[in-house]
Amino acid sequence: MEKPVVVKFGGSSLANSEQFKKVKKIVESDKRRRFVVPSAPGKSYPDDTKVTDLLYILEDLFNLEQDYSKVLANIKAVYNGIAKGIGIEIDLDPYFDDILNELGKGASKEYIASRGEFLNGILLSKYLGFEFIDPKEIIFFDVKGNFDSDITYTIGKKRLEGVENAVIPGFYGSLPNGKVKTFSRGGSDLTGSIISRLVGASLYENWTDVSGFLIADPRIVSKPKGISKISYRELRELSYMGASILHDEAIFPVISKGIPINIKNTNAPEDEGTFIVDEASLGNDSTWVTGIAGRKNFTVIYIEKVKLNQDKSFHRKLMSILESYDIYLEHMPSSIDSISLIIDDNVEEPKVKDIIDDIKLICKPDSVGYTKNISLITVVGHGMKNTSGTSATLFTGLARAGINVKLIVQGSSEVNIIVGISDDDYEKAIRAVYETFLGDKEK
Ligand code: ASP
Repeated sequence: MEKPVVVKFGGSSLANSEQFKKVKKIVESDKRRRFVVPSAPGKSYPDDTKVTDLLYILEDLFNLEQDYSKVLANIKAVYNGIAKGIGIEIDLDPYFDDILNELGKGASKEYIASRGEFLNGILLSKYLGFEFIDPKEIIFFDVKGNFDSDITYTIGKKRLEGVENAVIPGFYGSLPNGKVKTFSRGGSDLTGSIISRLVGASLYENWTDVSGFLIADPRIVSKPKGISKISYRELRELSYMGASILHDEAIFPVISKGIPINIKNTNAPEDEGTFIVDEASLGNDSTWVTGIAGRKNFTVIYIEKVKLNQDKSFHRKLMSILESYDIYLEHMPSSIDSISLIIDDNVEEPKVKDIIDDIKLICKPDSVGYTKNISLITVVGHGMKNTSGTSATLFTGLARAGINVKLIVQGSSEVNIIVGISDDDYEKAIRAVYETFLGDKEK
């Protein structure tokens, strides 16, 4: 039998009955689309509230003994509206009673939130005529609440053997005690990826409301070009910098199996979207610059010490100071006599000052200081490895726009270059970088 295609539909793709109809058409237009992973209903219009958020509010109000009737009515209206619109006969009241019962028994927030996907799964499986499989039987977490790949990839795989087609709700699985545990927000992407691995899919289609990734943020660059193909690694670099369409960890289950992910648009199914593939599959398609992304609000601690490279314990001491303050290190550019530690701006200023005092005491630098409000911009592309002049082009573009580059980081993978600039220059810099790499060729 031909390998299946796993299809995951995001919240906006399943927000109402009109969207359900589009989803059915998509699933039925390709017989290989045998495993369907739904999110909870998302927004039908910009000011709408996602069902997952309504469920979190419901749980809060219930536990605070406040009036939750409006929120509950809202949730009921979404699902009843879908059922009516797609013409399926189902009494959803027992399901809602169940949620209230469980709330009364002190159900966890995660259990309540998971009902968004669960109920959407029930409706979708009836509508498509597919088996309903609760992910509690497939996706497992350990006692600490971490995803347990060993158990999932054995028990989950067995459970899906011989299944012809199924709807498996996204976002959650079960703990060793059988209780529901959810992934972090947007986690249905991860469910889709795990299911793709379990069934040995030829492709994981992730259906959303945009036709794939754009090279740069359209809120900053006007009409940026789309990305047709991107490697897993390039995507990691971009999503670390905040380009978010897919959950950060969604590539991990499929990476070692080389299962490609195709980001598709439920509202424009004929658009090709973006393919996320392994490096080997990029072939000659590796572009010079695949994407440009960035993030504001970093703090840079800069340290100077002559002959720092000859002090064997210097880096270890530095790292243990950060560890003792429970701080994540984002980057660490260095030269022979200086080193910079890039950390998140959400580390409060008094804490940064304490860290600096410790560095003075323990590492005995010649000087140490810090700057807040630094933005990092990354330019990503496998083609950089084989193209000379990437840095020259980047810095010429930034210089032309009058932007002062405060620091530079190039990953050892040579798949990206990161520059640090002032937060005030962020938008201008993104536009300048886009223009310098992609703008002129279009004119
Ligand atoms: N419904 C969950 C959320 O809103 C999970 C998902 O949509 O992937 O985060």
